[in-house]
Amino acid sequence: MNQPGIFDEIVLYFRSILEGFPDKRTGKNKRYQISDAALSAFSVFFTQSPSFLAHQKLMALKKGHNNAQSLFGVHQIPSDNQIRDLLDEVEPDKVFPVFSEIFRVLEKGKHLDVFRCFENNLLIALDGTEYFCSNQIHCQHCSSRTFRNGTTQYFHGVVTPVIVCPGNSKVIPLIPEFVVPQDGHQKQDCENTAAKLDLTSEKYQFIRQHLPTRKTFFDDLRALTRYLYFDSWENLLDFMIHGLELEFHPNTS
Ligand SMILES: [Zn+2]
Repeated sequence: MNQPGIFDEIVLYFRSILEGFPDKRTGKNKRYQISDAALSAFSVFFTQSPSFLAHQKLMALKKGHNNAQSLFGVHQIPSDNQIRDLLDEVEPDKVFPVFSEIFRVLEKGKHLDVFRCFENNLLIALDGTEYFCSNQIHCQHCSSRTFRNGTTQYFHGVVTPVIVCPGNSKVIPLIPEFVVPQDGHQKQDCENTAAKLDLTSEKYQFIRQHLPTRKTFFDDLRALTRYLYFDSWENLLDFMIHGLELEFHPNTS
């Protein structure tokens, strides 16, 4: 996946999808672009830090620039409520074409071949997760469970298929399937987006190899982006390599 162009192709497509999100707002009250809201939400998922944007806003005030802008391409950081307001209207299936496009691009570039195993098949692992749970708030599309003491819990679940291959640390996510008890439309936040940052870059792979777990990487990332400003993803990775006292030698093939 080190072929130049493929990642850019995916990112361009991702952005074009974000820009096509429906915008319910009318009139002049459009300070934030809908793509800013979507990229901001994505940055929180990516950094796995709920307070990421709050710190970036503070950084922008103090230093005049911030990482949400340089790393994720956010023009202006909307507030949590503004992000929710804007994205709540967007049906999850609006981002589904991104999954298909990534698959198509990878297939075209013959990058799926390294995932083939067991007589040339692609293995799909199905995992499930819950992303809403309440004893009080519920809607007509909630799943529910009743406990022995009589209380009922309402939740939303989703099945997330990914292409996996033994011995390969990467996975390819496919379109998720929301669990809905009856027929009908669901109106959940859009949760899954395609990765914007280059996780296929040599430097990222190099750093990951030298850290014990994926979680360590994100813990470091979270700590760093909280107080320091980085011009770019590349810049951030270089800082980590330096801080970890590692010697990076790029493959110049
Ligand atoms: Zn519900």
